[in-house]
Amino acid sequence: MKNIPEINHCIPNPRAYWCRFCKAHNTFDYAEGRMEYHLCKACRGAWGVLPDTGMFNPGEMKEARKVILVAAGSLIVIGGVAQLYAPGAVDPLLACAVIGAVLGLIVLLGSYWVREFSAWASAQRRKSPEELRQEALDHPFQPEYDNSTDFTYWAEQFLSSEEVERLHEKYGESEDGQEQAHPAADEIQIVITNMEDDE
Ligand SMILES: [Zn+2]
Repeated sequence: MKNIPEINHCIPNPRAYWCRFCKAHNTFDYAEGRMEYHLCKACRGAWGVLPDTGMFNPGEMKEARKVILVAAGSLIVIGGVAQLYAPGAVDPLLACAVIGAVLGLIVLLGSYWVREFSAWASAQRRKSPEELRQEALDHPFQPEYDNSTDFTYWAEQFLSSEEVERLHEKYGESEDGQEQAHPAADEIQIVITNMEDDE
């Protein structure tokens, strides 16, 4: 019973992580390792283990797609030039074309995911605010408040950091059902990390 009416996870936001299995901007566990990942709290991604097989950020995905396309294109050009001027034992054009093709496949998969999001987003935009509110309430997964950096990261996709701070003030101290009336201001220091907003 810790739902957050301030954030509707069924309203499309292309700058927020979206789960393609749950069709919503669900809350996630975030981790950074060799690569960063976002694990949907509802479905945990494909097979429950593979990170970021469910969640992606459509805006970032579109940008990454451009970069990869340029890289794949350049590789093929470089391979072609190398082939012309320095034909060797390993066919440079072939090598570059294979790498380019793999990158191309990644782009295709990314495009497929972005299209899934866009289809969902345009369907959502045809609904009235009331319908969207009801859909969020009826959604099998309800984002819950928790006092963690992952939650802050999630919430800041939709709200300003001041608004998220207010969320923490509102829900943070009610954990044990008591002191929610006057949380000590010093305790609501929100550490914001990992938020590389686009400028
Ligand atoms: Zn999910």
